[in-house]
Amino acid sequence: MAARILSGNAIRDQMYGELAEEISSLGAAGIRPGLAAVLVGDNPASKLYVNSKIAACGKLGLASFMLTPPASITTDELLAVVEGLNRRDDVDGILVQMPLPPQVDAKKILAAVDPAKDVDGLHPINVGMLVAGRPNLVACTPAGVMEIFRRSNIPLEGANAVVMGRSDIVGKPMALLLLNASATVTICHSKTWELKEVARRADIVVAAMGRAAMVTGDYIRPGATVIDVGQNVITDKREAERVFANFPEKMESFCAKGSVLVGDVHPDVLSVAGAFTPVPGGVGPLTIAMLMSNTVKAARMRHGSKTPAIAGGKR
Ligand code: NAP
Repeated sequence: MAARILSGNAIRDQMYGELAEEISSLGAAGIRPGLAAVLVGDNPASKLYVNSKIAACGKLGLASFMLTPPASITTDELLAVVEGLNRRDDVDGILVQMPLPPQVDAKKILAAVDPAKDVDGLHPINVGMLVAGRPNLVACTPAGVMEIFRRSNIPLEGANAVVMGRSDIVGKPMALLLLNASATVTICHSKTWELKEVARRADIVVAAMGRAAMVTGDYIRPGATVIDVGQNVITDKREAERVFANFPEKMESFCAKGSVLVGDVHPDVLSVAGAFTPVPGGVGPLTIAMLMSNTVKAARMRHGSKTPAIAGGKR
């Protein structure tokens, strides 16, 4: 039987509806949340990401500011940019798009962002709050995955969850969020022994490795929930044929464009899993939705008592 598809697009739309209401009640109190994006240099992928974040701000009526320092910027110069944004009252959220040029000390930059404006959730204070079980601003992609679980009624308490990947931006915060939700969490990485066997014990698998279609059906216990965070572009025809043998429409699209997006999970897992996030249209849309949500949350926290009460009080 084919898995239930967990649509990130549908959940994003639901979240945007809720956020629009919240933004309008903040507007009535004279508050317009604002996001500042710092895009260093001309990395085309980074440009694309930042432009889609700015476009989402426009769609929801948030203020947005884009700063585009040159690729030659030094750590000290970028620190000065971040400190300027920390001081601005019209900026509630600051995101510094990664990767930064090699001469810039990225950890120093992330630590310079005011934790109250750290909408990417990467400041050591926000990471520490998550470790302490008191999450505040949390990294957007894993926070988005938690929205998928919550809104799709997938039980986490006591469940065996395997997180594949231990990056600061996805794997580690994902594992902590699952642990805080009382799942029994195993974190896997490139040195893990017998990954397949470990994964096959899981009720929930979150794949975040950046390895195209690596997780095949034999990694998955029948009926498990599979969350595919991976975003990999395939340009090799033979590789595309290996992945999409059962998906002729994807092969057609590959032949037309010369490339195709695939997650870390092989699409044939659809016939083994109980629930499954597609790529595209699964986790991806929620990353930006959570960035918007974090910006609104940061604005609410910064403006404190001026803000109206929120219906449901979820965020
Ligand atoms: P990353 O920093 O490269 O980390 C990859 C992790 O996967 C590392 O911990 C690595 O282990 C582990 N790994 C790599 N190969 C492995 C293997 N063969 N077996 C087991 N573990 C393996 O990547 P990331 O930034 O976390 O991103 C992961 C994926 O998610 C990428 O495809 C990225 O494009 C995607 N992503 C998507 C979104 C979204 O919005 N959908 C957002 C962020 C990232 P080691 O630590 O041992 O090296």
